[in-house]
Amino acid sequence: MVEDLNPFEIAKKQFDTAADLLKLDPDLRDILKTPKRQLIVSIPVRMDNGHIKVFEGYRVQHNIARGPAKGGIRYHPGVTLDEVKALASWMTWKCATVNIPYGGGKGGVICNPKELSKSELERLTRRYTSEIFPIIGPEIDIPAPDVYTDAQTMAWIMDTYSMTKGSTVLGVVTGKPVGLGGSLGRNTATARGCEYVIKEACKVKRLAVKNCQVVVQGFGNAGSYAAEFLQKDGAKIIALSDSKGGIYSKRGIDTAAATEHKKKTGALMELKGTTVISNQELLELKCDILVPAALENQITTENVARIKAKIIAEAANGPTTPGADRLLFEKGIVVVPDILANAGGVTVSYFEWAQDLQGYFWDESEVNNALERVMVRAFKEVYETSVKHRIDLRTGAYVLAVGRVMEATQMRGLFP
Ligand code: NAD
Repeated sequence: MVEDLNPFEIAKKQFDTAADLLKLDPDLRDILKTPKRQLIVSIPVRMDNGHIKVFEGYRVQHNIARGPAKGGIRYHPGVTLDEVKALASWMTWKCATVNIPYGGGKGGVICNPKELSKSELERLTRRYTSEIFPIIGPEIDIPAPDVYTDAQTMAWIMDTYSMTKGSTVLGVVTGKPVGLGGSLGRNTATARGCEYVIKEACKVKRLAVKNCQVVVQGFGNAGSYAAEFLQKDGAKIIALSDSKGGIYSKRGIDTAAATEHKKKTGALMELKGTTVISNQELLELKCDILVPAALENQITTENVARIKAKIIAEAANGPTTPGADRLLFEKGIVVVPDILANAGGVTVSYFEWAQDLQGYFWDESEVNNALERVMVRAFKEVYETSVKHRIDLRTGAYVLAVGRVMEATQMRGLFP
């Protein structure tokens, strides 16, 4: 049977598995499954050649039972409303898994940022911000970076929102530059959080990180720092990739050299001492830890039988399909699910937002120590839930998260 790869269908299936275990009431199930609000906007942008091009953008708020919506903005040609709905719902469960006071949201614009100049990107970002202005704000919905958006994008959003309000509103987005209300440690937080939970998963599998061979797919914010941190922990990085292709070296790849090479040439391929490998081959390499850090639907029923890693830590959102999950669990491969493995980003976003609202900023070690406490506690709670119910870590995380959102929803009651 061909697997359904629609991310929102996958997100609903993952939710249903936990809802069945929790014996969730059907009415409540419908509320928790359905996005609260979906906004579709047109974004006319004056291009550098003088013509106007109209882009389509989205902002989805999945659930706000536990606090304001929170979630990144993605710029990618493959963005769809269903993808944004899936990503928004994963944010709801992610924030509840690590127990921070947010609901879930997500945004996206269908565009290819690699084909846009910096000034076109700025005009697109400012107009998109203006279009979603009525539904964002520090107490409503707080965007952050995701694929192909960064601190500069967040600075433009903050400025556009602030100019419209007439005062500087730092807390409207997170992932901002440090000189502009950003938090120390935010840029590396997704990877740091991933590193912390990988260490916990290694304890479960009785592996020492320093003896591990690691493969990382995707060499952006999440993937490049994850590779760097694991290398610093003594692990050997044997393969890396980006959208153009991958590189492999049995003896190990120096992540600093890979970063430098990518900066110079725009790709990882042809780094000295490495051989070229496709993104598909890379996923199937024999290794201890596989970190998918690019996009959705990378490990599916089609390739799962050939996956040889002992631990998969999902730095990316949605890299594994439910069909593949089942087989990985049967094979004893530990999958640290996205809603836990990449929650470091939103956790430090929460710290950034708290710092902005207080106007009081922390030093980097305070941020990293607080992040480690949150991630280690969340891993323990997820692991204990999975052992108790004899389920995989993803379902364990969902049981924990859906339980928390369910409780908040029941305590609030139905309006009006
Ligand atoms: P990014 O834009 O910084 O990097 C994306 C990387 O993926 C790039 O190196 C790109 O070349 C690579 N890539 C794109 N398509 C690919 C493909 N088909 N095969 C292999 N590599 C490919 O994005 P990011 O912020 O690092 O996000 C990566 C993933 O992590 C996404 O799933 C995102 O939702 C998730 N995530 C990011 C954060 C964060 O704080 N940045 C937080 C949580 C989750």
